[in-house]
Amino acid sequence: MCIWNLTNCHRVDIVITILPQREQDAGSQCVISMNANSTSICDPKNPGHVKTFTFDLAYWSHSGFLKDEDGRLVSTGSNSRYAGQREIFRDLGQGVLDSAWQGYNATLLAYGQTGSGKSYSMIGCGANRGIIPIVCEELFKAIHNQEQNKQYQVTFSMLEIYNEQVIDLLSKTKKRGGLKVREDHQQGFYVDGLKQVPCDSYAQIERLMEQGTKIRTTASTSMNVTSSRSHMVITIQFKQIFLDEEITKQSVINLVDLAGSERQKSSGSEGDRLREGTHVNLSLAMLGNVISALAEMAVGKKVLHIPYRDSVLTKLLQSALGGNSKTIMIAAISPADMCYEETLSTLRYAERYSFVVFHCFSLSLPPEELQYLLVENERHIQTIRVTWESQLEEARKEWEQQYAAITQERRMMETFPYLLNINEDPQLSGVLKHFIQDGASDVGQSASNAIVLKGLGIMDKQATFTNTDGKVTITPWDKSMVIVNGVPVTVKTKLQHLDRIILGSNTAYLYIGPPAERTNKDLLRYDYDFFQSELAAADGFSIDKLGAVSSKDGKPDPSVLAVFHDYIKLMPLVAEANQMSEELNKDLKFELKVKNLASSDSRGYDLQKEIIVKVMHKITKQVWVWSKAKFINRKFLMEELYQHFLDGEDMHVEQDNDPFWDPVEVIHLGSAHIWLQSLAYCMKLEEQTELLNFEGQEEAVVLINVVPCSSDGRAFEEDDVVIDPLELLGRQIDFQIHIVQCLGVRWLRDVSDRGIQIGYRIYDLPRPVYTKPVWKNVNPKIEERTHFSALTVSHDFLNYLQKNALIVDLWGLQGISLQCIFFICGCFLWLQDAPNQMSKLYTKLLKLEQETELLRDINRALREENIFLKEQLKKWDTGHHERTHQLCHYRTSYDSDFAKALKVFYQNMNVLRGQFLKLKHSKPPVEDNLQMLRLFTERQSCMLKDFGEQLESSICKLKNDVALIVKKKRESIAYSKH
Ligand code: ADP
Ligand code: MG
Repeated sequence: MCIWNLTNCHRVDIVITILPQREQDAGSQCVISMNANSTSICDPKNPGHVKTFTFDLAYWSHSGFLKDEDGRLVSTGSNSRYAGQREIFRDLGQGVLDSAWQGYNATLLAYGQTGSGKSYSMIGCGANRGIIPIVCEELFKAIHNQEQNKQYQVTFSMLEIYNEQVIDLLSKTKKRGGLKVREDHQQGFYVDGLKQVPCDSYAQIERLMEQGTKIRTTASTSMNVTSSRSHMVITIQFKQIFLDEEITKQSVINLVDLAGSERQKSSGSEGDRLREGTHVNLSLAMLGNVISALAEMAVGKKVLHIPYRDSVLTKLLQSALGGNSKTIMIAAISPADMCYEETLSTLRYAERYSFVVFHCFSLSLPPEELQYLLVENERHIQTIRVTWESQLEEARKEWEQQYAAITQERRMMETFPYLLNINEDPQLSGVLKHFIQDGASDVGQSASNAIVLKGLGIMDKQATFTNTDGKVTITPWDKSMVIVNGVPVTVKTKLQHLDRIILGSNTAYLYIGPPAERTNKDLLRYDYDFFQSELAAADGFSIDKLGAVSSKDGKPDPSVLAVFHDYIKLMPLVAEANQMSEELNKDLKFELKVKNLASSDSRGYDLQKEIIVKVMHKITKQVWVWSKAKFINRKFLMEELYQHFLDGEDMHVEQDNDPFWDPVEVIHLGSAHIWLQSLAYCMKLEEQTELLNFEGQEEAVVLINVVPCSSDGRAFEEDDVVIDPLELLGRQIDFQIHIVQCLGVRWLRDVSDRGIQIGYRIYDLPRPVYTKPVWKNVNPKIEERTHFSALTVSHDFLNYLQKNALIVDLWGLQGISLQCIFFICGCFLWLQDAPNQMSKLYTKLLKLEQETELLRDINRALREENIFLKEQLKKWDTGHHERTHQLCHYRTSYDSDFAKALKVFYQNMNVLRGQFLKLKHSKPPVEDNLQMLRLFTERQSCMLKDFGEQLESSICKLKNDVALIVKKKRESIAYSKH
């Protein structure tokens, strides 16, 4: 966490939050280090790469702490540099309070990615109270210690900005479209109709915060509002009335828990046509713009306009950011390697902010105006005092009611079993309780239920709970989704203390059994991630299944961990998207997939994996593949649309703006590796290979020939084989790639308006080569040849041939008459870049002309010599002549024998390579079924055995062939000597 303090000076402080040690994080590393005022971050992919940022203060809360008996995290001793909540309050909160007492405004902003500890430092957790509660408590402590001739007025308000709408968190009635932000000459921007509650004790504020959090939680579940996208603003107005002098001093304290800073860039969704104009969070983006403008001003640049008016948040914070306020920004960072990119971006943001320098100013007025103001004040104070007293009385009454309700709730908790809400945001978990009283209680959206629950995918009647003598069961209603401990249930199911229940798409509850059943197990263990991991595991997805445990230390590979986290995070979002699609009749089905990038690596390297979302139209069967970023971007837009739907507004959108719509696209179905090694020996390759999709399943079989040939396309014979590829250096080689046919194309099996194209990219050709589209036929004949010429074979090219494979991609086309990929085929292609090639060719031509001239001369001379030699030859001994002839014959015959042997060997190797890839990609069955697992292992070991035997036999064959050739050669040498 880093903290900026921006008044009169520029000071930027950094605090690192603790890395919550969850099970999934077992393998993650800390990439942050702190040394006095500097904070360094190390790139986990490139450990030598360290970036250092210097701020005035840095707090470390990652290690060196223990939990005391009250549950507070405290430093382990003098060796520890741990900074807890108290230390942070001492350094920052106290300053805020001091400003308030002096009559200055103060603003505290918490910035950082979701999960980095913003809310922890602002609000806190359990015994570890954050800055806001401590500031409030200290404020009242100080008030109670003041002299009698002053009066103090404190009002409290709490609001949320979600999608540019202001929601009053202290008001139970929700205003459609939110509260309006208005502008007033004196006050600047303010929220019209916001509840401002007068308070005279800290206990009252504590209750109000509790109430506000409850409303926020209800909104989050019932309206599908993601709290990480919303900003929470608590405002404390503090007025001091000096009764003797008849003057007042007023200060406003803004405490802002900002939305998660991640996803601002929507990085990776560049390809999405709906990216422009979608701000994941307009207010946060605009806050960045305002800060940039202020930072430019601070370094003396001329800035004409600071865009405060562009978002709700910047409007409300104008006076705080613009000057007359003490402003501190806390930036929370996570030290985990997985969060490297986000953390770095937060540190950069902090650095940018540190250029902003603010100055506080105070008013100075002429004496006559002051006199007038004093008289005005006197009158004003009288009225304020009267209204204040009555308002305070009202608030006190309301508070008492609240208090009674809370006491009642406590009593119920000690009597009945209940459901405790679990939210993605730990701040909002455990806030709502639904009691299961004796007998049967229905739960669902409709108001007639005993327990009314709103949420995505929750039906009017969702399930019935029955509580008979403390034994509780849940019975789902027809077609409603009820998941208990990760597994969907359809019949009456008995519940046990701490069972996990998910209703509808994603409304999660922890079941707290009747008091007799309760244990003192830690409830915090059952957080949102626990629910999602359990769900994923029941679905056959886990870190182990993802494979790739690095052999070094047995810890999961960080990239695998990241994929697992992505999966867990996206899973509920996908469920929600599916539900919204259904309710809005969009007919789309979303599915999470793990994509193995090995299939697109021309050297066949493994490891890299990423999450994608497969989207399918249920009726047309059209398919799209969305990147994670595109999905997240679209999900936000879907939520907006869905919100209109819930509000009963017109939810018609033009196709172009519809987040559920995309034009038909070409889909990458699968790839095959065709190893090119045989080309380096000028040997023909005839392959029949499976095209595997990113899950390692067969999509089709492709028949492909790679044929070395002369420049005019005549295929080479066996005698043209070279023994040592280096012979080719500097020469021209030509070859043709002949895509013959595809067999059993899955994509074309069930849906009529689909087609395919095959594409591949070779060496340095800037564009891939595609075949013409073919439609419908499951075993389409393709018969397309492309001729390639490498004019001068370089080391690099030879190396390419020997180490790389041609990646042949299968592309799926959908919707006849719609686009296909631009294709080039059947033509000559140069394997070097074109402009360079032209000039090279020209010089070559000139040189050739000169050489031809020279050759002509030589030729003439040679012809003469030839005639002479011929005559000489005639005179030679015939016997001698015959022997030479035989020797020559032998030599060519060894070469072609050797070539044949090699050819057989390489062809065997290609088959083996295919088998090896298949082995590598074949995955164990998803179900935890021992029988299936056994079958799988048996099949696997059969394949392995087969593989081993074939490998052995090909090597053996090569050895025999070579031995035979060597033997023949020896014999012939012996013969020639003889
Ligand atoms: P944010 O508000 O930035 O999304 P939270 O404040 O909710 O993040 O923190 C995420 C989790 O990490 C919470 O469970 C919180 O209790 C825990 N956490 C964050 N910072 C600390 C800290 N300094 N010490 C202990 N736990 C922390
Ligand atoms: Mg938070």
